[in-house]
Amino acid sequence: MSVLEQKLTRLTAAGRFDICGAGECIQSLSSASCISYNRRTGGCGRMLKMLLNGSCSYDCAYCSIHLQREPVSLSPEELADAFLRLWRDGIVEGLFLSSGIPRDVDCVMHDLVETGEILRRRGYDGYLHLKILPGATRADIHDAARVADRISINLETTSPDRLGGIAGVKDYRQDILKRQSWVAEEKPGGHTTQFVVGAADETDAEILSCLADQHRRVRPSRIYFSAFNAIPGTPLAEHPDTPAWRARRWYQADYLLRDYGITADELRTILNEEGFFGDYDPKMVLAAANAPVNVNLAPRRDLLRVPGIGPKAADRIISLRRVHPFSGPADLLRAGIRGKAAGRHLVFSDRDTVQTKLFL
Ligand code: SF4
Repeated sequence: MSVLEQKLTRLTAAGRFDICGAGECIQSLSSASCISYNRRTGGCGRMLKMLLNGSCSYDCAYCSIHLQREPVSLSPEELADAFLRLWRDGIVEGLFLSSGIPRDVDCVMHDLVETGEILRRRGYDGYLHLKILPGATRADIHDAARVADRISINLETTSPDRLGGIAGVKDYRQDILKRQSWVAEEKPGGHTTQFVVGAADETDAEILSCLADQHRRVRPSRIYFSAFNAIPGTPLAEHPDTPAWRARRWYQADYLLRDYGITADELRTILNEEGFFGDYDPKMVLAAANAPVNVNLAPRRDLLRVPGIGPKAADRIISLRRVHPFSGPADLLRAGIRGKAAGRHLVFSDRDTVQTKLFL
């Protein structure tokens, strides 16, 4: 294996901790790995996800990159060359580029932006996601937003106190929240963030308050959740892992906040006394506490509260019932509404005092 191939192997392996798509899966290339992701336009794409620098001078307790004894990095030209070869050979379609911070943040951020600029100058017109590093300057964020399709800065956890317990260098308010507000201004509708759920022992109640604030203030297009997994050799090596289902439930809860009109206060009603969700679909739990919904009369916001009905299905119901009211399960099936989940929570008229079990 050439030196370049060895570097690619290490830098793609180190890039696995950043998430750029729910349910992403890793595939091997000849000298590196890439992830497959769901294209918005349908089908599956392949994205190279990697770091520019595989070492770091910061001290985040959940991360192993700062433990690397042999620093590894590529220059912007080397990374652009390697990526363009893979892209032109049709092996990958997109690039997600982040970096450790082995030296001054501004130098590393500048290299990330320069990599993007080289790629664009050399004809790359595909998807590019650049990570914004904590403490980045406004000018670098502006340049990254100009060259990339998407940019992101990781919150990791919910508050200055929580971050202080797991990362001694990063300042939550200054280095992350302030930068995130610049990110939102420079790339409205094109930025994301990520939580490492459980690393700082935050409760779901704390995450919920933080998410409500995110959606009100900076409106990330996606929030990613990774369940904390202890890495041997790190200060959190003995910390219990977060069960995968907790991150999965957070994706569901975040969809409800973002796309379904369900409020943080409603979600708070299903937290337990310690401030945590159980391993249940939060939409199912909320629906179980409410009366069934009249499919012919309910406003869109109430239809969206029915398990199995999403924004598209709610719109389809509203347009179809204008022409022909729903009279039974067959009408729902014709509208593409399937499954027991919806049936348990729908009635066809207000005379249906007993819940109609449509699909049982
Ligand atoms: S800033 Fe923290 S999380 Fe990011 S690479 Fe450095 S040590 Fe890891």
